[in-house]
Amino acid sequence: MRCPFCFAINTKVINSRLFCSETKVRRRRKCQICNERFTTFEIIELIMPRIIKNDKIREPFDEKKLSISMLKALEKRNIDLYSIESAISNIKNQLRSIGEREVKSKFIGKLVMNELKKIDKVAYIRFVSVYRSFKDVNEFWEEIDKLECNK
Ligand SMILES: [Zn+2]
Repeated sequence: MRCPFCFAINTKVINSRLFCSETKVRRRRKCQICNERFTTFEIIELIMPRIIKNDKIREPFDEKKLSISMLKALEKRNIDLYSIESAISNIKNQLRSIGEREVKSKFIGKLVMNELKKIDKVAYIRFVSVYRSFKDVNEFWEEIDKLECNK
C-alpha cells in the first residue's frame, strides 16, 4: 500500500480491525519513510469462480444445478434438508476459498462426491455411477439440465 503523503511503498500495518460482520477490515498504517499515519478500509471479497466446461465454454456457477444433481442422488433416501443445505454451502465455501477465477466442472463433481460420501453412501454411489457412465462431465451436466426442464 502506497503512502498517500509521500507515495513511498514502504508502509506498515500497525493495527487491523474487522467490522461489518467481519467482511470489512479497517487498517491503521504508518509510512516508514515520512512517518505519517493513515487508515484504509478493505472489503474482503470472496468471488465464486466461473466453471470451465469440457468444451472450454465458461459459465457462471449455478447453485440450482448443483442442488438438483444432489437431490437426484439423494432421492428416496431419508436425509434431512438441513444436511443437504449444509453440504451445498460446504461446496460453495470450498469453491470460494480456493481463490481461483475459474475451475473445471470436474472439480465441482469431486466436491459433490466428497459431500455425498459424508451424508449418504448410497447417494454417493448413485452420483458416481451416473457421473462415470457419461462420456464426459459436460454430458452429465446437460442431463441435469434436462431433468430441470422436465419438472
Ligand atoms: Zn510517507
